[in-house]
Amino acid sequence: MAKLTLSLMPDLDCMQVMMELAGGLVTAVAPVVVETGGLWVGWSGLHLEDQNVEIPESDPNDKSPTAGLKSNQVLPVAVTKQQFDDYYNGCCNATFWPLFHSMPDRATFQADKWEAYRQVNAEFARLTVEAVKRLHESDPGSVPLVWLHDYHMMLAANTIREKCDELNLAIKMAFFLHIPFPSWDIVRLFPWDDELLQGILGCDSIGFHVEDYCLNFIDCCQRRLGCRVDRQQMLVEHNSRTVSINPLPISIPYNRFVELAEAAEQVVKNNPHEQMLLGVDRLDYTKGLVHKIKAFETLLKKHPELIEHATFLQVAVPSRTDVKEYQELKEELDQLIGRINGQFSTPNWSPIRYIYGCVSQDQLAAFYRDSSVAVVTPLRDGMNLVAKEFVACQVGEPGVLLLSPFAGAGNSMHEALQVNPYENNEFADAIYRALTMPKDERELRMKQLRKREREHDVNFWLRNFLKTVDCLIDDERQFP
Ligand code: UDP
Repeated sequence: MAKLTLSLMPDLDCMQVMMELAGGLVTAVAPVVVETGGLWVGWSGLHLEDQNVEIPESDPNDKSPTAGLKSNQVLPVAVTKQQFDDYYNGCCNATFWPLFHSMPDRATFQADKWEAYRQVNAEFARLTVEAVKRLHESDPGSVPLVWLHDYHMMLAANTIREKCDELNLAIKMAFFLHIPFPSWDIVRLFPWDDELLQGILGCDSIGFHVEDYCLNFIDCCQRRLGCRVDRQQMLVEHNSRTVSINPLPISIPYNRFVELAEAAEQVVKNNPHEQMLLGVDRLDYTKGLVHKIKAFETLLKKHPELIEHATFLQVAVPSRTDVKEYQELKEELDQLIGRINGQFSTPNWSPIRYIYGCVSQDQLAAFYRDSSVAVVTPLRDGMNLVAKEFVACQVGEPGVLLLSPFAGAGNSMHEALQVNPYENNEFADAIYRALTMPKDERELRMKQLRKREREHDVNFWLRNFLKTVDCLIDDERQFP
């Protein structure tokens, strides 16, 4: 297998989760980098001003998936504080995050932030070329694979390709986007959309979660850049190269969640007949938290018999807490939950149990297993792993997955109960239907959902991705 150079700027909110809890992506990819003697190019968490701070030596007792990486396999990227802030907060989170989630009114477009994005991508590209050089020196004649990840890294490919061509270093290059890719109508709002599309097209293989995102991307390449495209075979021609576009739905380490669920302790309920509804989300405006809590309020009004019998457990993971928009969302949610709890609580019971914080995956597994209904209803989401983790953890009497069609997961999890989170009344009715669904229907739906997720776990995703890259040379797909 080709040696892997991974260029990664993990979302800082996820980073803690990835480091501490070993998220699926790192669990799946790190061993490949370790096994192939590959290199990992990533942000060190340090700024150039912190140059004197020593990066700690790797801990021999570390059991995390990246633990096998030797220090000379990691190339840490460092930029100035200002550059980083403009790049990460100013462009990645204030522009691409809302825009790619089709919420353009929340996006800001500023030339200086875009310039910082260019610079940081150029720095990642510089170090990645260094990594490629090293791999060629250690194994002359090899063709390393460079794998770029996510919306933080959409401009690096062209720079890497130009430099490698100049130095006569053979590479294959792939990109995977972990968030949605929106339609042309949205992408065209970005003032530098041509540069962005050309940046991504620097790769040989491009992966998105679902076919719709692939088709959106192909559409943009044709309409904005005038590229020749083939929608059926999912090909784009750019600078005389053929780029393959691939739907590659990411998933979870399924078996690990099954084991966690089997080992987890019982969640404490107020009474044995209580049904628990569960929400697990980062506190982000794309997740539709306010919509779902309001739907639960409507449910309690329409069905007062559920009082003391149905409790909503909502975990909201703090996210981008220094950004005003996120602070306001937290304020709105706090007030809403306070008002509903004030209105419906009895001396022995409150309708909403609210955890503002990050809980461990052992604890989450218990929540998933012991809930009657998982309410996974984002307004827009690239994939949504919580939906899949819930399904994996249904090791006892099965619950019901209530899923928004606006999550990538909605594309394949057909047996979930789907609901449009924007329609409050319909949403409340769907929760009621989930709570009262007969056991045989729940079993039937869950059996099929579990089968699919078991077969299509994160390793399946990784293997499929590597296949698209291995096939690059003799890919049978070509323009007629
Ligand atoms: N997660 C966690 N602890 C929490 C809440 C969430 O470890 O308290 C994990 C969860 O298990 C899942 C990830 O965070 O793997 C959330 O992924 P998802 O795709 O649902 O949403 P994202 O936050 O990436 O937009």
